[in-house]
Parts: sequence; C-alpha cells; structure tokens
Amino acid sequence: MPAKLLEGKPQAERIREEIRKKAAGLPQRPVLASVQVGENAGAEAYAKSQKKTAEALGIEYRFHKLAPDTSEAALVEFIEKLNADKSVNGIIIQMPLPQHIDYKKISWFISPAKDAEGMHPANIGKILFGKANLLPCTAAAVMELLNLSCPDLYGKEVVVVGHSEIVGRPLALLLLERFATVTVCHIGTSKAGKLEEHVKTAEILIVAVGKAGLIKGSLIREGAIVIDVGINRVADKIVGDVEFEEASRRASWITPVPGGVGPLTVTMLMRNVVEAAALAAKG
Ligand code: NAD
Repeated sequence: MPAKLLEGKPQAERIREEIRKKAAGLPQRPVLASVQVGENAGAEAYAKSQKKTAEALGIEYRFHKLAPDTSEAALVEFIEKLNADKSVNGIIIQMPLPQHIDYKKISWFISPAKDAEGMHPANIGKILFGKANLLPCTAAAVMELLNLSCPDLYGKEVVVVGHSEIVGRPLALLLLERFATVTVCHIGTSKAGKLEEHVKTAEILIVAVGKAGLIKGSLIREGAIVIDVGINRVADKIVGDVEFEEASRRASWITPVPGGVGPLTVTMLMRNVVEAAALAAKG
C-alpha cells in the first residue's frame, strides 16, 4: 500500500488557528521585528511572505532594511535597540547577510527572550534540560509532523541524516526528550560507507542534507515514517533528499517536497513570537 502523505499545510492551518487565538488574548498585539542588511531580492520576498503570515495571525511585522555597508558593530547596536524596545517581542535577521557580517556572532546578540528563530545558545541549552519554550523552527516543524504520524516516540528507532545546528542537532535533542532511540548520521557516516546500514534500520527516518536522491527509496524500511526536510532544485522542480516514488511504496507515511516540512516552518516562527509575547506579558 502506498504511504500516506504527511502534508504540512493542514497542520500549519490548525496550529495557525491556535496562534491566532493566543495572539488575540494578549494584552498587546505581538510584534516581530525583521532586519535585513543590504539589497537581496530573495530575502525581501521571504520577508514579504513572513509579513503576510504574521499579519494574518494578528502579529505586527516591522521590517527594517539597513544599508549594505552597515558594520557588525552598528548592526549589534541596532539589535540592542530592538532588545530594549518593550513593544518588540521577536527579532529575526534575514539571510543572507553581506560577507563582512558573521551571522552567528550577530545572532547571539538577540535577547534569548526575543529569539524568534529559537537558535540562541540559551534557548538551545534549554532543550537539553527539557525546558525550552522557543524552539528552532525547522526542528519544531518536524516534531509537529511526528506528533501526527507517530505520537508515541518512546523506544522508536529514529535515524536523522544531517547534523546541522538548525535541523539535525536540535532535532536529536527533541527526540531524546521523547525517549526515542536516536542515531544521527552526517557526512562522516557516508564517508565511512555506513549511511545505508543506518537508514535501513529506521522506523522513523528524517533527512536534512540538501542532496537530491541521496537516500535511495529501496533502503526505506517497510512501514517507516519518512520526513524529508531537504529542498533541492532539479531542472525546474523542487525535490527532497529521498527518492520519493520508491520510498512511498515502502513507507507508511512520507512528506511531499514541497508541501511537507516547509509550510510548517514559518508557522513555528510565528508560534515563537506569540510565545515570547505571552512570556513577556506574564513578566
Ligand atoms: P547544512 O548544509 O547546514 O547541513 C547539511 C548536513 O548534511 C550536515 O550535517 C552534513 O554533514 C550532512 N551531509 C552532507 N552530505 C552528506 C552525505 N553525503 N551523507 C550524509 N550526510 C551528509 O544544511 P541545513 O541548513 O541543515 O539544510 C539541509 C537541507 O534542509 C537543505 O536542503 C535545506 O534547504 C533544507 N531546509 C529546509 C527547511 C524547511 O523549512 N523545509 C529548513 C531548513 C533547511
């Protein structure tokens, strides 16, 4: 039997309704400040779509475009102003930044309480202790899809392919928090020729690499849940990292690409903003 499609849109709609209600119940309208440095059509289009989503959920979106030659020090100063501005609940720095700015260095100046992307070391650290309230958006999106397809992760064999700071690593911590047995694979696993043997064991396979066709469909364990985070442009199409057709003949659930994790990621960003606003309102 072909796998059921694990689509992000219906989940996103459901969670957006919750966010909308929570935002409407706050004493003030939550505010997301978005900072772009220099001109970048892609980043600007992304910011526009964030603005549309934010406003539909009752969140004010304040877009700040700084000059391309803004120095790191000036950007830090700008972030610190936003940190001090009580009307701002969430801050996001749009990528890419000009080459003279180190994103990681800059992003760590965002107050952890306003960390819309959930990537500040203080928030990542809280995941380790099971106390996180602002989560990395893509990892949180994957967890939402798992809540639907496999609510009880206790003892499940989960293989995560990709160990980036934004996806694989925080995801491994979130999965451990739910008592899954987690194996994290990465380039080293592939170079050692061991990727296939791990993939074959996965009851739940999550792939976040960015290489089309990396995971052969024939490797998917019968009945596995497959979450493909990868986004690759091949000819004129967007595809994931997993060979979809063959994998969907073996899996029980599989995310389409596009339409799986993607639609949920921006929703998780908005959830963080409203959560940050709710925490600030509590004092
Ligand atoms: P990254 O480049 O930071 O990390 C890639 C990871 O893949 C690393 O852990 C690396 O070791 C591993 N890797 C590379 N080659 C490998 C191989 N041959 N075998 C096994 N592992 C290998 O990437 P990222 O930022 O985590 O993004 C990964 C993919 O997910 C990209 O396609 C990106 O576009 C996509 N993505 C999607 C969303 C979404 O919302 N859907 C969000 C973030 C990232």
